[in-house]
Amino acid sequence: MPSYVFLETFGCQMNDSDSKRLLSFLKNINYIRTDSPEKADLIILNTCTIREKAEHKVYSALGKFKPLKYGSQHIIIAVAGCVAQQAGEALLKKVPYLDLVIGTHNIHLIEQLLKRVSEKKERISATGFFSEMNEAEYTVASHAEGARALVSIMRGCDNFCSYCVVPFTRGREASRNPDDILFEITALAKKGVIEVTLVGQNVNSFGRGTPNSFAGLLKSVLGIDGIERVRFVTSHPKDISRELIALFAGEGKLCAHIHLPVQSGSDAVLKRMKRGYTRQEYLDKIGLLRDARPDIAITTDIITGFPGETDADFDDTMRLIEEVRFDNNFSFMYSPRPGTVAASLEAQLPLEVKSQRLDVVQQRQREITEEINLSLVGRHTQVLIEGPGKLQSFEYTGKTSCGRVLKIILPFDMTGKLVDVEIIEAYRNSLRGELSQRTSVCC
Ligand code: SF4
Repeated sequence: MPSYVFLETFGCQMNDSDSKRLLSFLKNINYIRTDSPEKADLIILNTCTIREKAEHKVYSALGKFKPLKYGSQHIIIAVAGCVAQQAGEALLKKVPYLDLVIGTHNIHLIEQLLKRVSEKKERISATGFFSEMNEAEYTVASHAEGARALVSIMRGCDNFCSYCVVPFTRGREASRNPDDILFEITALAKKGVIEVTLVGQNVNSFGRGTPNSFAGLLKSVLGIDGIERVRFVTSHPKDISRELIALFAGEGKLCAHIHLPVQSGSDAVLKRMKRGYTRQEYLDKIGLLRDARPDIAITTDIITGFPGETDADFDDTMRLIEEVRFDNNFSFMYSPRPGTVAASLEAQLPLEVKSQRLDVVQQRQREITEEINLSLVGRHTQVLIEGPGKLQSFEYTGKTSCGRVLKIILPFDMTGKLVDVEIIEAYRNSLRGELSQRTSVCC
């Protein structure tokens, strides 16, 4: 008899990748995923603590499951991810109906942890850090979703940006062995995966301190038979190498998109954030990337209202947005995270200032994104079809090489296929296309 797991993921692609790993380990012990918490034997929230709001969401989501736990004692409720790592035992004390806290380095232990909870009725907080990279933490070729797969290549971060909890919740940076990664992707390709996304907190520092480099790994991945598209996330501007930028010029399978978080356009703020680059250094990297791949889409993260951010600092950010014309940005108000250097900085800004600046950034970005999308009408591109759309029959959605969502009416289900498309309409958040005979991988 199978058991059912309900899993909800909050936060970044790293968490997304961890959720897929959790599901792979659970599949091996006969768990099937369900969308219904009422049907579940195991409920897992894979959490994020990067912003205060994300953390609050977890507590309110947990509250929803309380009646289920008290209605049926056999249900196991677990919290994984960064909130789990940071709160540990305290989370068990705070939430009496919680059974299991799974830290970021403990995902691969899920089977034995569940056994202890169900057989010995223990309530467990497993939040130990393992400094060595252990291949048993990863599974081979089992977490693909059709034609696409996320592949974790490293964990942790050594950057200690002054606002960020990741080095505390995910530990020091450690890279997997390149041979293991290539073995995993080769196996995924044999199972029909054609697009892989290499995931890490700062993929550009992959292999630091060893003869391996991210560009070298990427080159090998691009050479794997059957892999047609390769993406990666996230990059740190200070670590992007010329070798990596050169790959954008010569490797068509490398998707024309980079997510390069800038956070602020002000040198003074960047310094207080401990980002390790200046505004000009960031702009120089953008210039090199665009020289290498003129159609590259560039997306970014921006924090508004960092402690001490003046009107002039904020103007610098807005000028940078105009200069770069990002394809999109993911912007948030600064929210102090306990234990970080920035949380204790003086000159914390009022909520209204942070929020008003956020509105300005987001409004301008919406306009730029729409302008860029409109400029693409009439172009030919290639789209990987991801599945049926929601609005019309025969409508499917997919993504361009640049990561734009495109909707298309297809004569039959082409999910998992790369199709040639002409862009015929553009909206703020998506494109519409129709099948084309012309092959092109632009935008
Ligand atoms: S690079 Fe900075 S913002 Fe990104 S995970 Fe590391 S510490 Fe956090």
